[in-house]
Amino acid sequence: MKSANSILSSYGTSVFEVMSRLAIEHKSINLGQGFPDDRGPEDVLQAASDALLTKPNQYPPMMGVPELRQAVARHAKRFYGVDADWQTEVMVTSGATEALAASLFGLLEPGDEVVLIEPLYDSYIPILRRAGATPQLIRLTPPDWKLTREAVEAAFSAKTKLLLLNNPQNPAAKVFTRAELELLAEYVKRFDAYALCDEVYEHIVFDGRRHVTLMSLPGMRERCLKIGSAGKTFSLTGWKVGYITAPAALLAPVSRCHQFLVFTTPPNLQRAVAYGLDKDDSYFTGLTDGMRVKRDRLAKGLERIGFDLLDCEGTYFINAGFRRLGFNGDDMAFCRHITTEAGVTAIPVSAFYAGGEAPATIARFCFAKQDSVLDGAIERLEKHFGRK
Ligand code: PMP
Ligand code: GLN
Repeated sequence: MKSANSILSSYGTSVFEVMSRLAIEHKSINLGQGFPDDRGPEDVLQAASDALLTKPNQYPPMMGVPELRQAVARHAKRFYGVDADWQTEVMVTSGATEALAASLFGLLEPGDEVVLIEPLYDSYIPILRRAGATPQLIRLTPPDWKLTREAVEAAFSAKTKLLLLNNPQNPAAKVFTRAELELLAEYVKRFDAYALCDEVYEHIVFDGRRHVTLMSLPGMRERCLKIGSAGKTFSLTGWKVGYITAPAALLAPVSRCHQFLVFTTPPNLQRAVAYGLDKDDSYFTGLTDGMRVKRDRLAKGLERIGFDLLDCEGTYFINAGFRRLGFNGDDMAFCRHITTEAGVTAIPVSAFYAGGEAPATIARFCFAKQDSVLDGAIERLEKHFGRK
């Protein structure tokens, strides 16, 4: 048999899928893969249901239904003061995952370099390598995940085509400061590069922080592609509706890829997301406040058990060091151990590092769950490890 593509076949099944399957097998409480366990906003669900029954269900325009592209443009103005032309600068995608793939395939050429910040989301490197590019990694390490000028300086070069920045960052739960963003912007401009900004957690930032989109920094509007996801903004991860805002000259090649990858995204879901993005501020602050309360609930329990918690500035995730619990294996072994022995699942942070020796004593827990689920997980872990 002739061999399949060597890059993609060198990767195993994603750690999220592996751990979710293991959780089901062991009837474990799944705080691994990042997804909320509630129904999502009732009115957004109703809007999807209404659109399904009353609006056309044939192929919508390749770039997305006008209602949603207009709503994405209004959202960029409302939250970030960014003006975007909905016709040429906004495109709807099948989730942020497709937006990322279409952008990487649409912009990269063999020989290009992409600067990425570890720990990083699992789809980035396989796709950029398949596009013929080479990753240049900036490694952030716990507990402070600090970005230094030296590390940025070492990663950028004349070959840099793109910076791929995830902010707020999964799994570090880090929200980049304005100073850090300015540093990255300085290098993107110096090397005449672009920035692909994965901002799926833009509305999940805590403790008075505000999300700053790289696109809003001086000189960056023409260099940035900003990606959002209805999955995160409306707690509907299965919908797979994403959106890109980018200058027309960058969006055009990305749309070429999108048309050959998926062409379009279910129209009723697009219309419901358009409705959702126009919801008033209380929806967005309610999302943040609700998640913060959940974060604190889980954090309190984990701390009581004896985990060493890292700061959580945004996203669905809190990172917990487990060495003090007396477990001497690595983080993968720990996550398997608590799944099979305690009945709680988490994700090993080392899975977000692309190579070399990764931090291996921290587990990532998702707190986007109902209170009873969080309490149940704490109870199980407490029973297993005993209270410290
Ligand atoms: N980027 C990051 C950082 C993520 O955590 C996720 C997963 N939710 C995605 C992209 C993918 O988002 P979507 O489900 O919209 O494809
Ligand atoms: N973004 C989710 C996480 O980090 C997982 C998405 C997926 O399973 N592909 O847990």
